[in-house]
Amino acid sequence: MRLSRYFLPVLKEVPKDAEIVSHRLMLRAGMIRQQASGLYAWLPLGYKVLRKIQNIIEEEQDRAGAIEMLMPTIQSADLWRESGRYDAYGKEMLRMKDRHDRDMLFGPTNEEVITDIFRASVRSYKQLPLNLYHVQWKFRDEIRPRFGTMRSREFLMKDAYSFDMNKEEARRSYYKMFVSYLRTYHRMGLTAIPMKAETGPIGGDLSHEFIVLADTGESGVFCHADMLEKTIPAFDVDYDGDLSPIVDDWTSLYAATEDMIDMEEFEREVPEDRRVAARGIEVGQVFYFGTKYSESMNATVTGPDGKEVAVHCGSYGIGLTRIVPALIEAFHDENGIIWPVSVAPFEAVILNLKSGQEACDSACDSLYEQLRNAGIDALYDDTGEGAGAKFSTADLIGIPYQLIIGPRGVKSGEAEIKHRASGERETIALDQVVTRLKELIEPERRDKI
Ligand code: ATP
Ligand code: MG
Repeated sequence: MRLSRYFLPVLKEVPKDAEIVSHRLMLRAGMIRQQASGLYAWLPLGYKVLRKIQNIIEEEQDRAGAIEMLMPTIQSADLWRESGRYDAYGKEMLRMKDRHDRDMLFGPTNEEVITDIFRASVRSYKQLPLNLYHVQWKFRDEIRPRFGTMRSREFLMKDAYSFDMNKEEARRSYYKMFVSYLRTYHRMGLTAIPMKAETGPIGGDLSHEFIVLADTGESGVFCHADMLEKTIPAFDVDYDGDLSPIVDDWTSLYAATEDMIDMEEFEREVPEDRRVAARGIEVGQVFYFGTKYSESMNATVTGPDGKEVAVHCGSYGIGLTRIVPALIEAFHDENGIIWPVSVAPFEAVILNLKSGQEACDSACDSLYEQLRNAGIDALYDDTGEGAGAKFSTADLIGIPYQLIIGPRGVKSGEAEIKHRASGERETIALDQVVTRLKELIEPERRDKI
């Protein structure tokens, strides 16, 4: 993409009312624009990151056996009356009437709709297990939307719903999602720690929140330091096999949010020098809720013995529009964002330090063409800005590799590659740039790990 033809409205000023660094940087880098309280437009650069995150999530959900679909944002109140949640949900639900005076709502979550779809078409235990998911906008009229897209009113969520014959089968479905979440966050470069979470009236041990540690996080969290260095399940993990060794390994060490913390247990189980008490961002949650909605909404199947049984369900959410700021909280410096390659809006940026000078232009044009042919997604700063401004924009928007091409280098047939994260620079022959860049980028794409 040529920057001269792109839409990248970067801000020079530091936005005053943005309290946390990710919010400031998303505004400054021209990723989002607030349209009303808790409502954001995703501008091209931000939207590219969001799409990359969505792709990773979809790939890992598919690999774990979940099946993608799409449900509407607007739902009928009737389903929620059936489940008994219409009144209980309260003011967070955005309610509306259609022209026929029917009660409608903007979905804050989709248990009712998916249960309705399930009961209409699934009759027999032979059609189970089933896990359906979608990536769709949700609306929750948060009392205090804040920190940009970290806590907004409209937000994009991946929500999956599993259906099983009994609790043991439901546990297998839960484990699949648990393992796929570990892989999903890891592929984005994030360390997200599964922590015991509240299960509500059902009880049991089957709910975890996935938490990214950050000083600006809204939850207080407590865990064993070794949780930060655990091994991620490999690409070839067998989702049809026994996943309990992986899940046991990840849940045997203490990790809980402040809602669930038992201080005595924490101190008993974790040696003093391994205790982590920190703040964190909830980037996802997995949850087994048994027959809660299947009973109230009559979602039953015929079992092997011919008897009708209510199905056992779980739901599994990931907040995509929250992951973007969570990534920035984890990866930035005083100059701007530092994207991991796997989620970067562009993998490299060509900085033409002397746009308009023929030799520089033709070297950059040719490099841009070569990168495209090599399958590297590059931004090309071909604008008339000065070198200083180009460097600071590139740093601000956080592209992992900067390819610096100026008149002197072009004369001697050389370019510089700057690694945004480490600041390291290497000088390299112009005709070697693509080969070298591929070598650097490919392992960082994390697509096959
Ligand atoms: P929170 O405790 O932060 O309000 P939640 O527990 O109510 O979130 P869930 O119902 O578990 O949220 O939704 C699944 C995921 O959706 C969360 O883990 C989070 O990543 C994301 N999410 C929830 N609410 C918001 C919001 N207002 N803005 C952005 N993302 C959100
Ligand atoms: Mg939650």
